[in-house]
Amino acid sequence: MTNKPVSRRLFLGHMGLAGALALTPHWSRGAESPPGKKLGVALVGLGNYSTHQLGPALRETKFCALTGVVTGSRAKGEQWARDYGFSQKSIYSYDTMARVADDPAIDIVYVVTPNGLHAEHAIAAAKAGKHVILEKPMCNTVAECDAVLAACKAANVRHSIGYRLFWDPYHTELRRLARDQDFGSFQKMKGDRGFVMSTWRWRADKKLAGGGPLMDLGIYLIQGACMAKNGVAPASVTAHELPKTRPDISRDTEETLQWAMQWPDGAIAEFTTSYQQNYDHFRAEAPKGWIDFEEQAFGYKVGTVQTSRGQLHYPAPYQQALQMDDFAQCVQSGRVTPVPAEMGRRDLTIIEAIYRAAASGRREQVKAS
Ligand code: NAD
Repeated sequence: MTNKPVSRRLFLGHMGLAGALALTPHWSRGAESPPGKKLGVALVGLGNYSTHQLGPALRETKFCALTGVVTGSRAKGEQWARDYGFSQKSIYSYDTMARVADDPAIDIVYVVTPNGLHAEHAIAAAKAGKHVILEKPMCNTVAECDAVLAACKAANVRHSIGYRLFWDPYHTELRRLARDQDFGSFQKMKGDRGFVMSTWRWRADKKLAGGGPLMDLGIYLIQGACMAKNGVAPASVTAHELPKTRPDISRDTEETLQWAMQWPDGAIAEFTTSYQQNYDHFRAEAPKGWIDFEEQAFGYKVGTVQTSRGQLHYPAPYQQALQMDDFAQCVQSGRVTPVPAEMGRRDLTIIEAIYRAAASGRREQVKAS
């Protein structure tokens, strides 16, 4: 059977989840903004993801727009201001970032720097009274996640993680299957995600990246598995690092890691992530059916997705535009985002357990809080 087109059913499904989450009351400064006003977003770090994804997506958003940047290069900031039509006054350096506090054009600060800088930049944004989106992984460590959450709480600002796949229809269908149990409860997950890194980059630097491909790519598999388990985190993990083929690149971080995650109901996930292999698959099996992301499982445009009922066919949405618009609406309305920083922290608790398991060679418990 070929599935129906996405839009209305998935949209309403998403609103249902969001509606449930909205039960949590939450003060929001953004709620003071007049209805209909687009919220201003400042991107922190104008690297690849900002340049090729988030900036262009902010041309398509309905509820927010690019109104500022934080960058190490003034000239680059000026070019962005010209390209996107925002004020030169809203260009900041990492050192002057605290001044966004006095910039009424900026409501939301989106942190898109290397992982190891996320905490510092998100805390600076929160202290400036701005709502915060952090790119994945949220931070290098759970302790850093806690510091960000505390800063957001102290400043009464909202937070979110750049988990764009929550706005992808195939991943939304995965979550729906997990919730409605069409196939029963998913009990077996497997998958891989990797790319070939041919020259050293900060992504392989322990201090800036927090680890290797597990932090950058394996986190998608963790997300996929938690979606398949209806948001429940695994209870324990085992892990094994494979020998390095390019120790000149992966100097103090893993190059390829295999790990397994176990849930209390007996479900198991087995995954591999690598900086020396190209792959991107995810499959989840339940007693009465399965879903298989056969290619580009976690891409900006998800590839072929088969299920035991037949192939799924959905139009490719602009994931990042929908993600940022949803957060802008959350800020405006007080609704809680489906991807709050607590979820980013949850994933770091799993990642820390995986690194402990790789080091100890034993099964390690995932610390729930
Ligand atoms: P990038 O290297 O292309 O850009 C990083 C930016 O940070 C650059 O502008 C760089 O100048 C700046 N920067 C500031 N201080 C730095 C320092 N000390 N060292 C290095 N760079 C510094 O990286 P990217 O691909 O844009 O990734 C940025 C973040 O976005 C990462 O956290 C990454 O995981 C995340 N990301 C998410 C997705 C997604 O699909 N959600 C995709 C790509 C990247």
